[in-house]
Amino acid sequence: MKVKQAVLIAPKRFEIREGDVGVSDNEVLVKMEGCGLCTSEMPEWLGINKPYPVVMGHEGWGTVVEKGKSVTARIKVGDRVTGLGQHCFAEYFKQTEGYTMVVKPGVKDKSLLGEPYYCVSNVIRAANPIPGDTLALVGMGPMGQWALQGLASPTLQHVIAVDIDDKKLEFARKSGATHVVNSSKTDPVKAVSDITGGRMADVVIEGTGAKAGMDIAVKLLRPANPRLVVMSFFKSAIEVDMNRFCQVAAEIIVAHPSITKDRIDHTRRTEIMINNGIFRSDHLVTHRFKLDDIQEAFEVFESRPVDFVKGVIVP
Ligand SMILES: [Zn+2]
Repeated sequence: MKVKQAVLIAPKRFEIREGDVGVSDNEVLVKMEGCGLCTSEMPEWLGINKPYPVVMGHEGWGTVVEKGKSVTARIKVGDRVTGLGQHCFAEYFKQTEGYTMVVKPGVKDKSLLGEPYYCVSNVIRAANPIPGDTLALVGMGPMGQWALQGLASPTLQHVIAVDIDDKKLEFARKSGATHVVNSSKTDPVKAVSDITGGRMADVVIEGTGAKAGMDIAVKLLRPANPRLVVMSFFKSAIEVDMNRFCQVAAEIIVAHPSITKDRIDHTRRTEIMINNGIFRSDHLVTHRFKLDDIQEAFEVFESRPVDFVKGVIVP
């Protein structure tokens, strides 16, 4: 089938072209409703990786229009689906059944970002707070917001979101934070100490991917067996105070997607969370671009204006 695709043909150069898409036996063909822009696509855009010509996009969602011979009755033509897609910056894209999440009609949120939800589900499992814990998240970008949505619970004593941007902190309140701290205006260590009566956080999630964020995260750990979850990628090596980890006997978990040994079962778990309305993104999508305007989309994404939280491509 001939479809319109956005092809990255050179660093920072997209071209809209016609391409061929067909499904194998275990794949479904999806009419694209939207696809998230992902930081992991920056190396191709910037020319650090050069796989040109390439059709990027793996955070797609839409409606199933065709299924391969061995796709089970779990997925029907007409279903809304999300998951880990291939070449989603296109009118139609395909994905394998194992990585497909079927979204129930009752789900109100229109932005079905299954692939990043899958990644965040790893973070939620790794964080694993117990009743009475205080949870702190440093960095309230989209991943931080979704981790918060999945973890905020009345079983926790405090759920504290830390960021330097008030808008993101306002979103964090909607995502379930009981307290927000703007670390550019107040000392976050003192603020968390005040909130917790000096106890500090049992579980801290680092979501900035920057040394400044990690430095805060380490200082928010409570002094007895806390857990630090490293959620973000770091652009370069950073120095951390290992002694601090030794003093407090910290458990450190890196929640990279590959922490999951059974990816198909993890897809199932994420699908349940989507269908139970845990993940919500409509209010987090600050930038929307047509497929034809993908060049502009990536230029804006690269420059990351302050009000940018999540960007998506629509047909
Ligand atoms: Zn992604």
